[in-house]
Amino acid sequence: MTMHIFAIANQKGGVGKTTTSVNLAAALAQQGQRTLLVDLDPQGNSTMGSGIDKRTLTRSVYHVLLGMAAMGEVRATSPSGKFDLLPANRELAGAEVEMVDLERREARLREAIAQYADEYDFVLIDCPPSLSMLTLNGLCAAHGVIIPMQCEYYALEGLSDLVATIKKVHANLNRELKIIGLLRVMFDPRNTLGQQVSAQLEQHFGDKVFKTIVPRNVRLAEAPSYGVPGVLFDKAAKGAQAYQLFAAEMIERVKSY
Ligand code: ADP
Ligand code: MG
Repeated sequence: MTMHIFAIANQKGGVGKTTTSVNLAAALAQQGQRTLLVDLDPQGNSTMGSGIDKRTLTRSVYHVLLGMAAMGEVRATSPSGKFDLLPANRELAGAEVEMVDLERREARLREAIAQYADEYDFVLIDCPPSLSMLTLNGLCAAHGVIIPMQCEYYALEGLSDLVATIKKVHANLNRELKIIGLLRVMFDPRNTLGQQVSAQLEQHFGDKVFKTIVPRNVRLAEAPSYGVPGVLFDKAAKGAQAYQLFAAEMIERVKSY
């Protein structure tokens, strides 16, 4: 069994990284995959959305990155989702500066996760909305990148910085890294422009575009305030079903890796 590590990244905020991270983690767990979700965003939204209170943490991914705790001492199991979580809160914002003097600082997360290779089938890393040292840690730890995006006019333009960063990381730090795929999220089928951009994405990126499309669905947006992943909050909702299909698509994809 290989552990597959994926960074969920896009330097834009509000594009569905956290929603994708939490729901993919929960759906993978539901489909029998041993899954770890790493919250790498100081906002701690993945942590809260997994049902763990970021305000009461004594230790977090911050301590793991700085070598003050092992991952095994910090991880928790999502009470609602049956997956493990390496949680985050505001303290993580300081890591950027505090890591400056550390050796191989971009590889801290990779090294922390490596020791647990036989415990998980999937590790998902929810990256912050920037191309910072934190995101770099995510990209260095990962085998591939999942890029959630909205089908908007500027979607393709925003992609180029991220793609350039991924290429640099591939060339200099992590030869394994590749773009696994673009995930179309918050999709509104009645929006003509959305359909056009979606078709453009398929033309440009071919099979790098996931077959699954996640629709805009208010139940996915409501779930985090209950600390329950959307896929469990309302299993019948269109958004929940889409993330279940996406998990199945990922399980199928990794068979060829
Ligand atoms: P990011 O992590 O990239 O900043 P989020 O996952 O937090 O983005 O999503 C931004 C906002 O959009 C959140 O309020 C979230 O609940 C909402 N959202 C995300 N995906 C969907 C969707 N498919 N349908 C409706 N709302 C969504
Ligand atoms: Mg987020």
